[in-house]
Amino acid sequence: MTEKLYLNDSYLREINAKMTNINGSEITVDNDIFYPNGGGQPADSGKVLYKENEYLVKDIKKDGENIVLVLDRVIDANEGDEIKEIIDWEKRYAHMKLHTAIHIIDGVLEKDYNSSLITGNQIYDDRARIDISMEGLTKELASGIIEKANSVISEGHEVNVKFLTKEEASNKNLVRTQPGRELMNTLDIIRVIEISGLDEQMDGGTHVKNTTEVGRIILESFENKGKQNKRLYIKLND
Ligand SMILES: [Zn+2]
Repeated sequence: MTEKLYLNDSYLREINAKMTNINGSEITVDNDIFYPNGGGQPADSGKVLYKENEYLVKDIKKDGENIVLVLDRVIDANEGDEIKEIIDWEKRYAHMKLHTAIHIIDGVLEKDYNSSLITGNQIYDDRARIDISMEGLTKELASGIIEKANSVISEGHEVNVKFLTKEEASNKNLVRTQPGRELMNTLDIIRVIEISGLDEQMDGGTHVKNTTEVGRIILESFENKGKQNKRLYIKLND
C-alpha cells in the first residue's frame, strides 16, 4: 500500500521513495506526494530522479491502495531502488489555493443561504469552474457571494486536515451530495477539511493552511445555464 503523504501534508514538494513495482514506464511507490486526479482537482505533474536520470511524470494512477507514477519513458531499475519525487510546486500551489477558494465559497453559501448549492466544480491551473444550482442567482448576487468569500479570506481562518471515525463524522454535515453520502458510508476513517469557524467537509484534496494564502477571488464570468443552473469561473489575484 502506498502512503499518500499529500493527505497529511500538502506542502511536501520533494521526498525520497522506493519503487515497489516496476512495469516498463510505470512505477508503484511506497510513499507518494503526487496528487492523482480527483474531486475536481487535477493530477500533479513533476519529475522523478533515479541515479543520474530525470523522468517526467506524465500521469498519476490509482491502483487499489497503490499509487502508480507513469513516467515519460521506460525506467531501467530494480524493485526496492530509491528515487526522488519532485512535484511541480507552482502548479500544485495554484490548485491548493483554488481548491480552498471553492470550499470558502461553499461555506458562505451554506452559512448565508442555508444549503450547499454547488453541484460540481473543476480546478484548472489558472481558474476554476463552479456550478451552482440556485434559482434567481444573478451575476450581481454572485459578485456579492464572492465579496463575502473575500472577507472570509482576509479574516485569516486556519484550514485544518482532520481524520474522523464514522461515529465522530455521523452527526456532522460533512457531505452534501448523494454520491458523497454513499462514499462516506463505505469509509472507516473520514478525512475532513475544516475551515475554522466556517466550513467542514469530507475531502480528498490538497489545501492551503490559512485562508489568507488564497489571495483575492475574482469572478471572471457568470453563465446562466438555465432556471436553476448557473456556472461561475473564478480566478485568483495575490
Ligand atoms: Zn474539495
